[in-house]
Amino acid sequence: MTGFNGLNEVLEAVKTCKKCGLYKFRDKCVFAQGRNDAKTMLIGLSPGREENLSGKLFVGPSGDFLNGLLRLSGLNREALYITNIIKCHAPTYAIGQKEVSACSEYLDKQIEIIKPKTIIPLGSVATQYIFEKYNLLKKRISEIHGQIFYAGDGDLFNSERKVKIIPMFHPAAALRTPGLSALLEKDWQRFHNEL
Ligand code: SF4
Repeated sequence: MTGFNGLNEVLEAVKTCKKCGLYKFRDKCVFAQGRNDAKTMLIGLSPGREENLSGKLFVGPSGDFLNGLLRLSGLNREALYITNIIKCHAPTYAIGQKEVSACSEYLDKQIEIIKPKTIIPLGSVATQYIFEKYNLLKKRISEIHGQIFYAGDGDLFNSERKVKIIPMFHPAAALRTPGLSALLEKDWQRFHNEL
């Protein structure tokens, strides 16, 4: 881990990062949206085409769908911290373990600074990474979506402190896969009180 002092330093590093080949797809840096004191962090995969052009997270159809899911769960988007595991726009086929390993130090630092109480990884890649990071048994997203997991948050002085992890399908996947959107709506609605 490099010695970032704060989120601005992480942002500046991401803007010019060339640690993996995905920088070639980057038009605008899409770093994060939301509050630095958020209790809940959403982690998507990577910026889509519209995000890459606008520099904003979750805009366009998947953003609209996510907003609907947040309404179902009672979560206010303004109260969250939203980011992606991969910071540069890329076609899904170009994202592999090498790119996740290269980019994850930025996400790790964001988590370390924000200290969310709840993490919602969206989709398979973010879920696998978060489960590995928190030493949870990795399973397919189709088996664990919408369930709540607890893990130690890494605080050396308070081993009792837990972070809540709730993997969800990615909104963009739901738009591509018939039947998945209804499942997602059910998952988010179920956690109306829990979240
Ligand atoms: Fe750097 Fe991440 Fe972009 Fe790769 S995807 S160039 S590691 S910011």
